[in-house]
Amino acid sequence: MRSAFVSLSVMEKDKRKDGNARIQAKDRARCSFCGKELDGKEPAVQGGDGAILCRECARIAQRYFAEIEKEFPSKGNTLDPIKLKKPQEIKLFLDQYVIGQDEAKKILSVAVYNHYKRLNYSSERHEADQTEIEKSNILMVGPTGTGKTLLVRSIARLLDVPFCIADATVLTEAGYVGEDVDSILSRLLQAADFDVAQAERGIIFIDEIDKIARKSSNPSITRDVSGEGVQQALLKLLEGTDALVPPQGGRKHPNAEMVKINTRHILFIGGGSFDGIERHIASRMNRTAIGYKKDKERRSADEDGSVLKYISPQDLRSYGMIPELVGRFPVLTWLAELDHAALRNILTEPKNALVRQYKQLFAIDGVNLEFDAEVYDFVVEKALEFNIGARGLRSIMEAMMNELMYEIPSLGVKEYRVTLDYVKSHFGKDLSEKLKNSR
Ligand code: ADP
Repeated sequence: MRSAFVSLSVMEKDKRKDGNARIQAKDRARCSFCGKELDGKEPAVQGGDGAILCRECARIAQRYFAEIEKEFPSKGNTLDPIKLKKPQEIKLFLDQYVIGQDEAKKILSVAVYNHYKRLNYSSERHEADQTEIEKSNILMVGPTGTGKTLLVRSIARLLDVPFCIADATVLTEAGYVGEDVDSILSRLLQAADFDVAQAERGIIFIDEIDKIARKSSNPSITRDVSGEGVQQALLKLLEGTDALVPPQGGRKHPNAEMVKINTRHILFIGGGSFDGIERHIASRMNRTAIGYKKDKERRSADEDGSVLKYISPQDLRSYGMIPELVGRFPVLTWLAELDHAALRNILTEPKNALVRQYKQLFAIDGVNLEFDAEVYDFVVEKALEFNIGARGLRSIMEAMMNELMYEIPSLGVKEYRVTLDYVKSHFGKDLSEKLKNSR
């Protein structure tokens, strides 16, 4: 009879030709871990110095390592380089999901391309090359509901990297009630299925970053310590640091095991509406612009009603962002308010446009759903009237479509056209109230 013991050193080698390769058993061997006597029939693993591991102990060890792997994934060099798209390809991808915002899309495409090029390049270890390419965290300024989150989410999907959204309004300095800044990394780790190496090249979107601005741009008067404290706490994270985070999120406990995450290659994208920043931009432009330039800038700023396109780091500082934080976002871009045409496009054009989604839902039931063109204009006008932007389009459509989704499956029809009359008659007082309150 063949021995049931296999030595660790020969196991790997012999596995290839004969999965059952065994070496001679020692008589009356014992498991070196549990001490159980082995009769030579039960399979066991033998180490180089004669130590033996029985099947049961091996199983326990295997379970233990599987658990540990979840919390502390082995690093290894197993990550493939990010499959990087060229800036123009990134923009074309974004065009499928995000309407307008061309300037922001271009700037984002280039910044994301550079960021991951730098990451792939540095992981190839170009040691002889001393040039350190700086990290290009991005800051997006624009009214809410104009597509900031959508842009970042789409980019993360394209690159297939872990992505999470952190709400700056709930962040606090370490030690205060609320979520401390490092907790953002726990969330990214979760999004990466607890794979630290993947998380270390993910994207973090810090939403509402304007809400941690100092209330006064003059630090000596009415210092808003909490906002400034959070800004200070973010600095290290943005720059690149080794942070210790609890793997399951939540607050740090003194005894909890921590996971180390290096943030050097994490791309941080900040977003905020920076309400009222136009005043800062305009007053800076009036102060600095002279002669011809002043007139020209003013005119073009007036044409589309937005001076946001002239935003500069200086304006962020005068708004209340500390200079060091502004400096950690070398790429700055802006998003325009969405007008009637843009909102109408959002309703119908993107790959996952609302109208397409409803049509698809009905198509599954074998019903061809059509809309009168005036319906789209009506929905957009209501979104503008209630000042609820692109986000409001969904609430309006949902409320209107609910009745149809209730009735149509039982009607047995193959085709249904949604008319302006139908929509108007279903746009009742209740819905108006609801929309008013959703602002
Ligand atoms: P923000 O982050 O700027 O506040 P979001 O990206 O969360 O805004 O937008 C909210 C929703 O509105 C999105 O999920 C999307 O459905 C829609 N939306 C906003 N802007 C656009 C846009 N430019 N193109 C297409 N959809 C948009």
